[in-house]
Amino acid sequence: MSKIQMKTPLVELDGDEMTRVLWPIIKEKLIEPFVDLKTEYYDLGIKKRDETDDQITIDAANAIKKHGVGVKNATITPNQGRVDEYGLKKQWKSPNGTIRAMLDGTVFRKPILVKNIKPSVKSWKKPIVVGRHAYGDVYKNAEIKTKTGGTAEIVFTDAQGNETRETIMELPGPGIIQGMHNTEDSISSFARSCFEYSLGEKIDCWFATKDTISKTYDQTFKIIFEEIFAKEYKNKFKNAGISFFYTLIDDVVARMMKTEGGMLWACKNYDGDVMSDMVASAFGSLAMMSSVLVSPNGYFEYEAAHGTVQRHYYKHLKGEKTSTNAVALIFAWTGALRKRGELDALPELCNFSDRLEKIVIETIEDGYMTGDLAGICNPPAKKVLDSTQFLDALAQRLKTAL
Ligand code: NAP
Ligand code: MG
Repeated sequence: MSKIQMKTPLVELDGDEMTRVLWPIIKEKLIEPFVDLKTEYYDLGIKKRDETDDQITIDAANAIKKHGVGVKNATITPNQGRVDEYGLKKQWKSPNGTIRAMLDGTVFRKPILVKNIKPSVKSWKKPIVVGRHAYGDVYKNAEIKTKTGGTAEIVFTDAQGNETRETIMELPGPGIIQGMHNTEDSISSFARSCFEYSLGEKIDCWFATKDTISKTYDQTFKIIFEEIFAKEYKNKFKNAGISFFYTLIDDVVARMMKTEGGMLWACKNYDGDVMSDMVASAFGSLAMMSSVLVSPNGYFEYEAAHGTVQRHYYKHLKGEKTSTNAVALIFAWTGALRKRGELDALPELCNFSDRLEKIVIETIEDGYMTGDLAGICNPPAKKVLDSTQFLDALAQRLKTAL
């Protein structure tokens, strides 16, 4: 059998710990026997990032800008414990944060559904994709705790030194104050990323804020979304048979519990942080979640939604077998290969990705899975597999299917 040929390399960003152990096994068993895999490899493992003063992360993000599609393994975001553990020069920034800032993107997380794991919300039948704006709001705020009462104000000073002031509150006694911001540029690219994602997946786009209460801040999000939709996407959505729906955040939460799912839920930063964890947990597990960073400039970075699974790695280092679920990592590869196939007009590569994803789902639905899923599936698992056994089971089925 001849292997599927690629035209443009995928930008491959390797990572740390247990996911670094699984990464080459996934390639070796599930991809390389079938695809003449072309990648441009960047080692984002913590040692290499430290050695290069994190230049490797910047190089990798630039490579994604050059080639268009990246696939990223989970990476350690160092805290003091990691600095001591690996003897690092400093607490390097989160690689995801660096890459997101360079590609200017929105992160879309989509649950991977299998029949034998039922969502906790009974009506949910199709995946709910959460698109989280990853810039500003409370994540980049300024806060003051006052010891006494006094006047709390917000002040904006423009380039000429003109001040705009607004009183927040005459505090009668000690209190707390918070100031936050966003930019029209970032909100616009968030809106375009969401509309592009909806079009790509042919699913409706729902967006919500609290614009009745926040008449300037949240309303700006609403207006920007509505204007961009009307000017750039209305016809495209119509042609694709999908719609854009705006409502209040509390209304959308209530409605979400009654839907079948199957839409993109565009969320402001904090809403996305909270709601993506709720959605992931209600659908089963972080290891059954695909995640992609979509930039409005047409770059894509596919990743797993979970971390490096440190606890399993320490077991692995002691020579013990682990039952680590590789599904999200596999879907990062299939997502990236499929996108490469679409961009390079290689239908065989798209078909291969579809086939591999289908086999992953069938294998789990047939009762063969890792321990994390065995705990939540019904009917009970036929066999709980360790990390490599699960990959071997997939490889076996893939060979037979092709
Ligand atoms: P984690 O790697 O997501 O793992 C947390 C727990 O979730 C695991 O201990 C495990 O539970 C379960 N789990 C997660 N993925 C699993 C999988 N594929 N298969 C089976 N079980 C899975 O989070 P963490 O241990 O808190 O973080 C470890 C490192 O990852 C940190 O250094 C953090 O900086 C990094 N991180 C990276 C990313 C990223 O690169 N995208 C995201 C998050 C965290 P049990 O132990 O109960 O089996
Ligand atoms: Mg969260």
